[in-house]
Amino acid sequence: METITHNKYTVKEIRDLTPSTYVVRLERNDMKFMPGQNLNLGLSGDTEKRDYSIYSRKNEEFLEILVKEVEDGLVSKKLKRMKPGDTLEVDGPFGFFTIKEENRYAKKFLFIASGTGIAPFHSITGSFPEINYTLIHGIRELNEAYEKEHYPEGKYISCVSQEDGGDFRGRVTDYIKQHPVDNETICYLCGNVNMIYDVFDILKEQGVPSENLHAEVYF
Ligand SMILES: Cc1cc2nc3c(=O)[nH]c(=O)nc-3n(C[C@H](O)[C@H](O)[C@H](O)COP(=O)(O)OP(=O)(O)OC[C@H]3O[C@@H](n4cnc5c(N)ncnc54)[C@H](O)[C@@H]3O)c2cc1C
Repeated sequence: METITHNKYTVKEIRDLTPSTYVVRLERNDMKFMPGQNLNLGLSGDTEKRDYSIYSRKNEEFLEILVKEVEDGLVSKKLKRMKPGDTLEVDGPFGFFTIKEENRYAKKFLFIASGTGIAPFHSITGSFPEINYTLIHGIRELNEAYEKEHYPEGKYISCVSQEDGGDFRGRVTDYIKQHPVDNETICYLCGNVNMIYDVFDILKEQGVPSENLHAEVYF
């Protein structure tokens, strides 16, 4: 019988950002990836594996993922209990939610995330800080503005649905309706499928052509 071998990566650190959301830092080994790609991983010996976008930047000496512990979630709960020195089985990188090299400094980008859907944009904007972008982050509460200090002034816009004090009070859909997007902008959407469908519809109505729309659905 053929056995599948997975690559083992040692956990270096777990960084809690909120009571439910955390960053897992892993050794880099010789992993090469394009910002925006994801990994498929789980605990060593565990058959349950899940996809996680790479949160860290291209040139960092470690790999990071940003994970929200889902209530009754199988893998996200176990990952939260990991300790430095534990190992994960990691496959990848996978996916095409990346920016074409020829567009990188030639185009204007709008990144729209819900919740932990900000992870690929953290990697992209940190790896290529010179790109022309705005990042819109849909969250329920202010504490979900994960490491917003990592983005330069004015680049990160939180749309907070249940609390005052963010950059915009309301959903990302409300923000985009009030701030129409020009049809030259290349839009990347990541996170919850309902947000992605709703934003797609609004952007299409605003005249953004389909070839300028890219999406990564988490759940
Ligand atoms: C390409 C890709 C990249 C992904 N990247 C990330 C990432 O960077 N960070 C991340 O936290 N998750 C990410 N996910 C989601 C992740 O793969 C898991 O689905 C998530 O961690 C739940 O797994 P679990 O085993 O804990 O829950 P399961 O036992 O599989 O339970 C799944 C349940 O949780 C719901 N669910 C899944 N994700 C969420 C969420 N974030 N918030 C609320 N409910 C959720 C599902 O709808 C389902 O009802 C990604 C998914 C895909 C397809």
